[in-house]
Amino acid sequence: MLIPAEEITYKGIELNLSMVVNQYMLTEGKVDLPVNLRIKLSRKGEKIKATGEISGGIILICSRCAEEFPFSVNSNFDLDLLPVETLTSGEVALEDDEMDTVFYEKGIINIDSLVATQINLTVPMKPLCRPDCRGICPVCGANRNKVDCGHEAKIPDPRFSRLKIFLEVKDGTA
Ligand SMILES: [Zn+2]
Ligand SMILES: [Zn+2]
Repeated sequence: MLIPAEEITYKGIELNLSMVVNQYMLTEGKVDLPVNLRIKLSRKGEKIKATGEISGGIILICSRCAEEFPFSVNSNFDLDLLPVETLTSGEVALEDDEMDTVFYEKGIINIDSLVATQINLTVPMKPLCRPDCRGICPVCGANRNKVDCGHEAKIPDPRFSRLKIFLEVKDGTA
């Protein structure tokens, strides 16, 4: 959804909708069901304030066991929207809260990209299907949440593996 910035007045507009996020806008995960968006856009001088809430779910891949799992998104946001031109002209000095400033191009506010960005921010760096995910067995590759393969779970000491590589190389050239 695209909204021309000039349509946003001091009184503002409020939207309540269900939308499907564009898959390519997500840095992590897959689109599952539409997300619910409640957003209020109102003008405050040059700035447009965008406040609201996103709720819904996406599918992530566990960083330990590589299985897909549903991840619920619940994000409240309070953003300042500014035309990107103010950046290049240097007219507006960014304040301390520049993290919450979003720039829009060509006078158009892209609601899809705003929502996708907020979802991307809620996704953890190393997603886990559950906090105690046991991951994949380094010996046989089994998903240890499902199978108890009985292999030693110990992660090899990196110092020893370097020594092992060294010994292997030495063997190879000898
Ligand atoms: Zn997992
Ligand atoms: Zn195993």
